[in-house]
Amino acid sequence: MQNAIGAACVKYDAVSPDVHQLGAIATTASERMALIEGYDKRTAAMKRLLAKIIETLPAADLDLCPFCSLDTNPDLDHFLPKARFPEFSLHARNLVPICTPCNRKKANAVKSKTTGQRLFLHPSVEPSNNAVVLEASLSFKKQGLSVSYHVDGGGVLSQKEGELVRRHFDRLGLSARYSRRAQSYLASFKASIAGKPSTVVARTLKQKISTASFGEPANGWRPALFRAIALNEAAILAWLQS
Ligand SMILES: [Zn+2]
Repeated sequence: MQNAIGAACVKYDAVSPDVHQLGAIATTASERMALIEGYDKRTAAMKRLLAKIIETLPAADLDLCPFCSLDTNPDLDHFLPKARFPEFSLHARNLVPICTPCNRKKANAVKSKTTGQRLFLHPSVEPSNNAVVLEASLSFKKQGLSVSYHVDGGGVLSQKEGELVRRHFDRLGLSARYSRRAQSYLASFKASIAGKPSTVVARTLKQKISTASFGEPANGWRPALFRAIALNEAAILAWLQS
């Protein structure tokens, strides 16, 4: 069994990030249970081993979930679910620090049931793309400012890459999650500068525009929001002071 698991892990690494193509190895019910319990039970030895594995993860030194960049990453996701692929329950590459909302949305999904295509970017082995593909759009409505997000990979990503990023974006509900976060952020920003002189408001906004991307992923919700704000500075200024 150990040899079969070792061989499966070698195969996993060889086909990464397209691990959705793998089939599970043959295991008996008791072997499956032992492999899953090895992860779930968290004995002292298992905790030490897990801590070592987590140290090797490229995403572990980021404070944010590598799937959404919205929240911290307190959970550990099995990219290929351990219920179906128990052989990878302790494989470092298969473990991804993730936020709870993404973990819940991802659940046991791996590939599209209809097309067989992979649904998610694999953060452990697919370095995040620094090319800007996330765009925010602002619309000024009677009831307030609304922000929407979409992926525009045109000219930067290949068609295949763009489709994968869009599946990841859609499946994790990132459009709605980013909109909600951006709108509540802008409402707090507006409240924090209410009643200040217009020169102070303008200066604060300029400062935020120039520093929004510091230390944040290029395709994070905040850098994308401020790229849109920079293009609509006058309208945003008027909205902030309305
Ligand atoms: Zn997340």
